[in-house]
Amino acid sequence: MNTKNTQHIALISVHGDPAIEIGKEEAGGQNVYVRQVGEALAKQGWQVDMFTRLSSSNQATIVEHTPGCRTIRLTAGPKAFVPRQEIFEYCGEFLTELLKFQEQSGIHYSIVHTNYWLSAWVGMEWKKRQSLIQLHTYHSLGAVKYESVETIPKIAATRLDIEKAVLETAERIVATSPQEQEHMRTLVSSKGDIDIIPCGTDIDRFGKINRLEARQKLGLSPENKIIFYVGRFDQRKGIETLVRAVGSSKLQGDPNLKLIIGGGSRPGEKDGMERDRIEGIVAELELQTITTFPGRIADELLPAYYAAADVCVVPSHYEPFGLVAIEAMASATPVVASDVGGLQFTVVSEETGLLAPPKDAGAFAAAIDRILSDHDWKNQLGLGARARVENMFSWNGVAHQLSQLYESLLEAKSENLATTSA
Ligand code: UDP
Repeated sequence: MNTKNTQHIALISVHGDPAIEIGKEEAGGQNVYVRQVGEALAKQGWQVDMFTRLSSSNQATIVEHTPGCRTIRLTAGPKAFVPRQEIFEYCGEFLTELLKFQEQSGIHYSIVHTNYWLSAWVGMEWKKRQSLIQLHTYHSLGAVKYESVETIPKIAATRLDIEKAVLETAERIVATSPQEQEHMRTLVSSKGDIDIIPCGTDIDRFGKINRLEARQKLGLSPENKIIFYVGRFDQRKGIETLVRAVGSSKLQGDPNLKLIIGGGSRPGEKDGMERDRIEGIVAELELQTITTFPGRIADELLPAYYAAADVCVVPSHYEPFGLVAIEAMASATPVVASDVGGLQFTVVSEETGLLAPPKDAGAFAAAIDRILSDHDWKNQLGLGARARVENMFSWNGVAHQLSQLYESLLEAKSENLATTSA
């Protein structure tokens, strides 16, 4: 049965706007995931509406991306940036606006795929009001996250309750790695249905430009030894570990050594504070001359940065998946990553890069040094990395798996209805 074309899917991402520029404020992997999944599903014939919160009065309320895929921004709370730990109080309003939109547009959504716990709540409440199949992707699990932070926010208890409820009631949970599934089972609940479908990346976009061309484009020398980080400025990302690793690298003093720390932040905001802290550590270790902070890296330049790098470092304390790792790998750049979460799934130590214990600057330094000091092995790891992404993490492959899951859930539902009405 081909149920597509006629079926409308709602992807909900209350705090991660799929239409926004990535790298700014709290925008990161979730925004990329929702947008890519939405567009790829539309290509496969589904009608996809991605719902998010309007966060500025200058934003368009509807953004058309590709045929069959658009972002719809609903007014819930102030038309301004609100940190994610303060958004829950506006989720009721978000649901009301969503129901209003559905009624006014005359669209009937048969599937809702929610992202992050805030959206999980919206999806569960929506399901109380109409027949709907809910799928959920966590992006981050409170039960894991709170293990590695010093101050537990007030909202924690609510979040943990919602994360448990959605696991036990959604028609399907999409875990992005076996490690994430394991965390759900051991830390959240033994009930509920989980499928593993990883995140993906665009294997045509990353890996097109070679190292030398990329360096030319970015004004970097072919002689440079480039260590690259890109992502949000958030303590959980472990940028401090990377900087301290570079500070204790045995390549210190090599005039060709370069550390590029990419990712956006605006002064005075939360990300800005972490960036100031990191800049302070760079200064303390006297690494200013070899370190650059290019800020948010635009979409057109990102493939060149990954390709130009000799090694990409993902030093997160915790990472449910970690898109940056597979983007670097698709660009044939080896990855040195923390031995945690989804990174244990994407990065194969000694084959596509190296894994090191989180927060262990000495181990990161040793891993980075090993790769930078063996040119042939570095290239071999890069080829292994590219092959792994081609085989397992292309967006088209991932969207195909999601699409099949949606179809099977719709079929199961209609068979169920047929049996109960017979
Ligand atoms: N990103 C970007 N430009 C930047 C910083 C980040 O395009 O300046 C993108 C990056 O390419 C990746 C995403 O933001 O696709 C970060 O996703 P990841 O899963 O690594 O981390 P998260 O933000 O979800 O914690």
